[in-house]
This record gives sequence, structure tokens and C-alpha cells, in this order.
Amino acid sequence: MISIEQATTLIDSTAEALPTEEISLSDAMGRVLAKEILADVDSPPHRKSVMDGFAVRSDEIKQDCKLSVIETVIAGGVPSNTVEAGQATRIMTGAPMPEGADAVVMIELTNFDEAAGQVTIQVDQINPGHHVMDRGTNFQKGATIFEQGHRVRALDIGLLAEVGAANCLVYRRPRVAVLPTGNELVDCGVMPSDGQIRNSNGPMLASMLEHQGLEVSDLGIGLDEPNQLRSSIERGLEHDLLLLSGGVSAGTMDLVPTILNELGVEQVFHKVMVKPGKPIYFGVLRTNDRCTYVFGLPGNPVSSLVGCRLFVARAISILMGVDSIYPQAFKIALSKDHEARGNRPTYWPGRLVGSTTATRMAEPLNWNGSSDLMTLGTAEGLIAFPEGTNVHPVGSEFDFYPLV
Ligand code: AMP
Ligand code: MG
Repeated sequence: MISIEQATTLIDSTAEALPTEEISLSDAMGRVLAKEILADVDSPPHRKSVMDGFAVRSDEIKQDCKLSVIETVIAGGVPSNTVEAGQATRIMTGAPMPEGADAVVMIELTNFDEAAGQVTIQVDQINPGHHVMDRGTNFQKGATIFEQGHRVRALDIGLLAEVGAANCLVYRRPRVAVLPTGNELVDCGVMPSDGQIRNSNGPMLASMLEHQGLEVSDLGIGLDEPNQLRSSIERGLEHDLLLLSGGVSAGTMDLVPTILNELGVEQVFHKVMVKPGKPIYFGVLRTNDRCTYVFGLPGNPVSSLVGCRLFVARAISILMGVDSIYPQAFKIALSKDHEARGNRPTYWPGRLVGSTTATRMAEPLNWNGSSDLMTLGTAEGLIAFPEGTNVHPVGSEFDFYPLV
């Protein structure tokens, strides 16, 4: 059995980023840039007014001074005259500043006699540069806007549009198949009969992956029956990633590792020193032109969830070309004592409960183990306790792995 660190290293050395594709900006949200984006313009592209008002020579301004208005520049227009002594140009927000002027008096502080072509200024003085933004203040042509590996957020789209990224080179979205297995499973729309339980993992895992922008195929429930399971797994192997749940432990009906082996999937690891989720399996099917990565997650829902958060997410991050699809783990201090038990590092559901100092506090929840999804309903992440039996007092610090 290997450690979490060893498992992570094996995933890192096995998985590779997917090929790239070019997409239009309107499809870029959530996608990961495969190439840095450089600015093809200055921002702003010209020295501009940030107010509606009058472009003036600041050293001339005093209360009630009168200036003759030589032209009007609207946004989208360009000035044709230099502002000389005694003159002003009427200007709108965003329009380029005329030569000669170095400041803008906002319209509310002026009195414009349009017929006479004269403006009276109602302010004592104005500083050079007032209400003026220099060309290239935000960024200059050639500046790096986003690095390779940046995952595009909705709010990034405006900036990408500003620099003309009408098309972006991104990594292809992973195509994932989800295949929960177990003879006891029934669909969530069905009342279970004796001995049956509802399939929680299928919809949960599919949703976790869809939330990350992956294309998910739900392969339905796989039975613990070799032929049926083999054909479901074969369908799953047509994807970039196949996520199985159940059937990977040591029971007589745990057929998954054997069938994967028969289908040519190379096992990379099976069983990791982690609680919950020890029996987790990871393998890869290599064909001439592509790979399918396969995870077999233990059937208990919280074991599946932890395996997905710790290991599947790592592989997906690599496939997607991003550092981590989840926010990085951070240190928390326990908000109450917690008795940890066992010979494996344990990922225990926890809830953030504010902070008193620079360190955030998290409460280890009253959790009944790997089948207990109820407690997960109030969790926001997993607190990582080291192996060993210990009472950890309030204030002890551990890593917290956010779940969303
Ligand atoms: P297994 O890993 O197949 O031995 O399953 C371990 C436990 O998880 C058993 O109690 C199963 O009934 C349960 N289980 C397996 N698959 C699921 C699922 N998709 N949803 C909920 N529970 C499951
Ligand atoms: Mg099973």
C-alpha cells in the first residue's frame, strides 16, 4: 500500500494534458488557456477624458474665467484642433484629449453658452491631469494579459475582448464516463426493496465533474456480473477518463480490477493509505493515439468523494492544463477538540466557523464514517489528520481541503 504523496506523484507522472483546440471567445468561459494572451493594444489606446466636460489648459483656470469652445469631441471621434490660450474643447467621457489641453473640468462645474460658443468655468483651480487618463495606464501593447494555464472566468472575458482575443487556444475539455457498480444499486427515482440502496455516487460524481466544466457521460448502473460489467467498462474506455465506483475492494464480487486488467488497462496503483477510501484504483489504457485514465473509487459515497477530491481532481487538473481545479488547501485551527483514530491519514468532514486570528477555524463534524452523506451536507471541506490515535485540542492546526 502506498502513501498519498506516492499516489499523487504517480498520477503526476502518468497523466498528460489533453490536446489543444482553438475556440471563440464566447465559448471560453471555464476553459484553460494553452497559450499566453498578449495585449495587441494599449489601454486606454489614447490619452482620454474620464468625464463629460471641457478639456482646458489647467494653468488658466480660475473662478468665472471664460473660454471659447473650439470644437466638440464625442467618444469615437478624434480632436482636430489644439487648445490654445483662452480656449477649451467640449469633450465626452472616453474621447481622446486634444493637444494643448492637460485637464478636464466636469460639465457640472461649467456654464456653457452654446450660441456664443463660450464656457464659463465655476471652479477656483484645477490640477494638471485632472480627469485625464494617460494612454497605456492600464496596460501597454505586448503586456502579458493571462499566462498559459489560466482558467478563464466570466469576469476575464471583458479583458480578453479588449485585447482582441476573438479566438483562444485552449486545452480540450476532458470527456469523462461515470460508471457506478453494484448489484444492490437502484436509481434514485426508485424505492429500494430489501437489500437495495439508491445509487448516490453516480449523480454525485457526475455533478462534481460537470461543475468543473467536463463533458460527462453517465453509463448507468453496472452490475457485479462479468460480461455486463465488461461491456460497460469498454464503453467507458472510449473516454479520456473513466470513473468507476464500487467493486474495487477485496470482496468476491469486486470484479473491477480484474476486468480492467483483461481489457489492457495498466494498473498504476491499487490501495492508498488514506481514510476513507483505501481501496482506490488508478490505471491507464494506452492506445496508439490516446490514453484513457481509469479510477476505481470505493463504493461508500464519502470514500468516493474523498478519492475524487484528492486523486481524480489531481488527474483532471493535469488533463485540463491547470494547477488545481480546486482552491489550494489552507491551514485551519480546530474550533473544538477532536479525537483522531487509526493507522491511516484521515480526511474528516469539517465546516469553517470564522476566525479569531490570521488562521481560519474549522469544526470537525460529528461524522459517522464513509456511508454518512448527511454530515457532508453541512461540510465545506476535509480536515487532514495524520495517522495515529490522538486527541487534538482546540487550536491545533491542520490542512483544510475545500470541497467546492
Ligand atoms: P463496494 O466498494 O462495492 O464494496 O461498496 C462499499 C459500500 O458502498 C457498500 O455498502 C455499497 O452498498 C456502497 N455503495 C456502492 N456503490 C454505491 C453507490 N453508487 N451509491 C451509494 N452507495 C454505494
Ligand atoms: Mg460492490
